[in-house]
Amino acid sequence: MRKKIVAGNWKMNLTLAQGEQLINDILAAGLKLEEGQEVVVATPFPYLTKAKSLLQHHPGFYLAAQNCYSEKSGAFTGEVSAEMLKSVGVDYVILGHSERREYFKESNEALAKKVDLVLANGLKPIFCCGEPLEVRQAETQNEYVAKQLEESLYHLTAEQLKDVVIAYEPIWAIGTGLTASAQQAQDMHAFIRAQIAGKYGREAALGLSILYGGSAKPSNAKELFSSPDVDGGLIGGASLVAADFAAIVKSF
Ligand code: PGA
Repeated sequence: MRKKIVAGNWKMNLTLAQGEQLINDILAAGLKLEEGQEVVVATPFPYLTKAKSLLQHHPGFYLAAQNCYSEKSGAFTGEVSAEMLKSVGVDYVILGHSERREYFKESNEALAKKVDLVLANGLKPIFCCGEPLEVRQAETQNEYVAKQLEESLYHLTAEQLKDVVIAYEPIWAIGTGLTASAQQAQDMHAFIRAQIAGKYGREAALGLSILYGGSAKPSNAKELFSSPDVDGGLIGGASLVAADFAAIVKSF
């Protein structure tokens, strides 16, 4: 069975002390994770080491970074490599978040390189895809997402794909309060799974965890997660409040 994952993406929020408090509150929330269920916390880079020390003895809890650079090492002032992330105990790396695509002009090609480096270092990418509002309005979201997958992931082998998690995040739903309906999420997730089946076969597609992201919150998580192809969520705003994040995890 494929994994069910709820990942909290803190983005550029919280101080170290606030982050520590948040993780401690989440750990104290009495979450009972079943076999195959994971909770992932994606902190800003400077907090990774501390977060690792808090999470590491809690089965089912994993650490993520929010990005890494597309080159292995060298003269890239201010950047962080996949190898560095591995060395501080990171498990997952969010790649291709729409904010990175928009503000930092990350292309599908650059993301393909990041995916390779993350996998080469034994880390797992949480690869984000999703369409802007005008694409949804033109009803061409399937083509748009298919191209993102094709250009950043389809060079991988089936073996490599086993370590990839996909997050579908319609841009019009991120931080806007506008959630995709459970049906819209399910339709896209089923489409993504079918695309992967077409490229890698049915077994690979059935093993792939596909998370939904975009204004997921305690009040809608249960309905979203109950769809057959929605395997959890990538949570932004609601991951900054321990009670909300814990309630979303309990919606598995
Ligand atoms: P949101 O963000 O839950 O605040 O909409 C989701 C994300 O950007 O990962």
